[in-house]
Amino acid sequence: MSSNVNLADIEATKLETLWKHDLYTLQLKAPKPKRVVCQTYIPDRPPHYGREFHGKITREEANKLLSGEDGRYLVRESVRAQHQYTLSLRFEKQTKHFRLYYDGKHFVGDKRFDTVHDLVADGLIIMYLETHARDYIASMSNVAYEETPHYTLQKSHKLQKKKFFKDQGELTKIDDLRNGIKRIDIHDIDDEVYDDVIDVQMFEKKHVFKSHNYMGLPFCDYCGNFMWGLLAQGLKCEDCGFNAHRKCSEKVPNDCCPDLKHIHRIFGIDLTAVVKACNTVRPFIIDICVKEIENRGLNTEGLYRVSGLSDDVEAIKVALERDWDKAEQVFKTCDDVHVITGVLKMYLRSLPIPLITFDAYPHFLAALKKNPLDEKISGLKDVISTYLPPAHYQSLQYLIAHLERVSQHASENLMSAHNISTVLCPTLMRTPNIGLKPFQMNSWDQEIQVLEILIKHHSKIFK
Ligand SMILES: [Zn+2]
Ligand SMILES: [Zn+2]
Repeated sequence: MSSNVNLADIEATKLETLWKHDLYTLQLKAPKPKRVVCQTYIPDRPPHYGREFHGKITREEANKLLSGEDGRYLVRESVRAQHQYTLSLRFEKQTKHFRLYYDGKHFVGDKRFDTVHDLVADGLIIMYLETHARDYIASMSNVAYEETPHYTLQKSHKLQKKKFFKDQGELTKIDDLRNGIKRIDIHDIDDEVYDDVIDVQMFEKKHVFKSHNYMGLPFCDYCGNFMWGLLAQGLKCEDCGFNAHRKCSEKVPNDCCPDLKHIHRIFGIDLTAVVKACNTVRPFIIDICVKEIENRGLNTEGLYRVSGLSDDVEAIKVALERDWDKAEQVFKTCDDVHVITGVLKMYLRSLPIPLITFDAYPHFLAALKKNPLDEKISGLKDVISTYLPPAHYQSLQYLIAHLERVSQHASENLMSAHNISTVLCPTLMRTPNIGLKPFQMNSWDQEIQVLEILIKHHSKIFK
């Protein structure tokens, strides 16, 4: 392979090559770091530098010391500014200078390294690839998503997942709110019923990309190319494991299909991630809590207002995290219904995006401004169907129907729709941080009114 990757050749073979090693081959050719050791004793050498530290020497002196092969490097202190350090290194027969920082790790940009040697090794790889494959790197993420190997794999993965749940008779269907999620035997249903089946795999979900240090040889799931560098070579989706160059990650559509092997908790996980990983229309914990609360009767005074013992709530949370398959047995060990409502409230509060999402929040408050009441109701109906993601919609619908039933026992439990709304408002809606006005001022009252209307007019709004 020539040192300059030929763009036309790459274009021609783009779709035929699943794994593209070209950039890896190029990375192997990048110059290696060679420390230029200081021969004299420097009394005030910072402890985090080794003998590559040359003290206060000028640019010109550094240039002289580094002349020779690419990859030679040294660290020096600024002649004019004390405790300001520069990394000087040789690349393509020129000396380059970078301001060098240390905060427990060494860095010149975003990436942090344990040693200056690693930092230089990574820098040389980046510079070498950006010099010799500049055009190719710029064009890499131009491929349409439908043409990427990942798209095909993703499609077959979705089908397989659907088939798996289908074979298990475990596609979910909501037809009776009282029964919660009803697992139906897919073999016994006719087409008409099948239309009601909600395919949660089609729910849109953003990937959760985080910078990742890869071991071995990492490849981008979007463009198929090698992800170069010594560490932080690319981004990994925390929910599904999708790997991508930073630039490619911006092109990936919101089709994250979380996998249980990447989701290790129930509490604190994005709601859509949980339903897609479990293939249920709602997080099962909502269904189990609601059923448990209803089975115990809705007459208990202060339902949802009275707190259960926080140690007991925490104990159930821990038991559920340990073995979520045994959720129903876990609840059987609990006598106090306030502990169960506590677990449900804790689950909802722990959602990184609240049930009524930050994006939808201002639209709920805007609908409330309409008059008369009928206008408010139809406004809220529009808002929930337009702005709530489907998994949030399904969960809210189920939960509000349950709260309506709680409010029907207000003469005994003293929890009217207004009281329930007051208690649950901070759990279901959180004021987004969107500047000064108007949402952060007096928003609590309005949030309570929104919930109260949702509960009282549930059947009109969720249709
Ligand atoms: Zn993902
Ligand atoms: Zn890529």
